[in-house]
Amino acid sequence: MDVVSSAAGVEFTSASLLRSYATWAEIDLSAVRQNVRALKAHVGDGVLLAAVVKANAYGHGAVPLAQAALDAGAARLAVARIDEGIQLRNTGIMAPILVLGYVPPVDMRRAVHYSLTLTVNSEQQVLSLARASVVRGVKTPVHLKLDTGMNRYGSSATRLIKLAGAIERTRTLELEGLYTHFACADEEDKSWTSWQFEAFMSARDRLAKSGFTFPLCHAASSAATIDLPETHLDMVRPGLALFGLYPSTDVSRDVHLQPALVLKGRVGRVHDIGPGDGVSYGYTFVAARRMKVALIPVGYADGLHRMLSNRASVLIRGQRAKVVGRVCMDQLVVDVSPIDHVRVGDEAVVIGQQGEQRIEAEEVAELSGTIVNEVCTRLSPRVPRLYFDDGQLCGYSDLNASYSPITRRGGGIRKGVAAGRILP
Ligand SMILES: *Cc1c(COP(=O)(O)O)cnc(C)c1O
Repeated sequence: MDVVSSAAGVEFTSASLLRSYATWAEIDLSAVRQNVRALKAHVGDGVLLAAVVKANAYGHGAVPLAQAALDAGAARLAVARIDEGIQLRNTGIMAPILVLGYVPPVDMRRAVHYSLTLTVNSEQQVLSLARASVVRGVKTPVHLKLDTGMNRYGSSATRLIKLAGAIERTRTLELEGLYTHFACADEEDKSWTSWQFEAFMSARDRLAKSGFTFPLCHAASSAATIDLPETHLDMVRPGLALFGLYPSTDVSRDVHLQPALVLKGRVGRVHDIGPGDGVSYGYTFVAARRMKVALIPVGYADGLHRMLSNRASVLIRGQRAKVVGRVCMDQLVVDVSPIDHVRVGDEAVVIGQQGEQRIEAEEVAELSGTIVNEVCTRLSPRVPRLYFDDGQLCGYSDLNASYSPITRRGGGIRKGVAAGRILP
């Protein structure tokens, strides 16, 4: 019997946990480790990999994804906000964590307390961070971000020289990294990226001439990591690629990546409708003939864009079933007329593979008028995440339980309560 036990010590079967959800995401941690290894092999031994796990690892779950990336050889982690770094620290992750975004000066003490590495961009931040670090009695590493034309976070070379001076004068802060971010690296035409990269390299030289050097220079996110080896420098910062997704159709497929995420729902009702019957809010779909429809409990509050109304498909019994009518907050309806034997409880795949058929996150993104990054990050906290390792359930999280690893044991099944869930 496939008995597993959660961190809370409660035993249940993986099948019973799976059966207890009507809507869920499955995340393959072996795929994530495989992707990290593929990216590491591509950049070579001399280049560090910082796994970007901001925004809950693009919806996949920051804690298990960070752990999987570190297990596969990522040297560091990167997040956008302080709280994301603290969440990782609170689970015992010791690897250096770089905060990529703006942090208000009042938050510097928390940053120091949790040993987070900040990207500082003002004298005020430098002074607050230095003050917070004095108490700790160790040098606090900082990174500077050069704005090479994205006009987002960062500063010009001239301002960075001043800032680097202010940092050195504190004596408690230490220049560890210099980086930039590309605006168009995922496009076929790499000329803007080359221009930004040249600007970065000449600014680095200017800073060096002023006496400021950086052990870690980095520029490449997923697109440049895959397509532009000359930009790898000391470290790469892939996010999307860790999850098995490519930034655009123009990015090379030479580095083989495996999508880690599958989104599923269970058929909640199957019934027939006749000519003239409308489906869902606003009757934007009206049946022209007799047809069979199935209800899937996945809606826009789970992260599926309402743009998918009357456009997307799901997989049921290995076949495509088209969404009819509007996507609602919690559910949607699909046409299953051509599919035999659809029953309540059947698995429907919204993103992922079923039998021979596949619905890529890219397809959902295109139909939603957005990019795969947004499709993943929109997956709401309401969607339970089930984690798999080599096909075996190894952890889960849902609204009532933050990430809980599951360990496998022999023995009988016992009724139990797992973080608020009563399982058969
Ligand atoms: C989000 C982000 C990344 C990762 O980008 P991907 O395209 O997902 O690889 C890297 N660097 C910075 C500064 C970012 O904001």
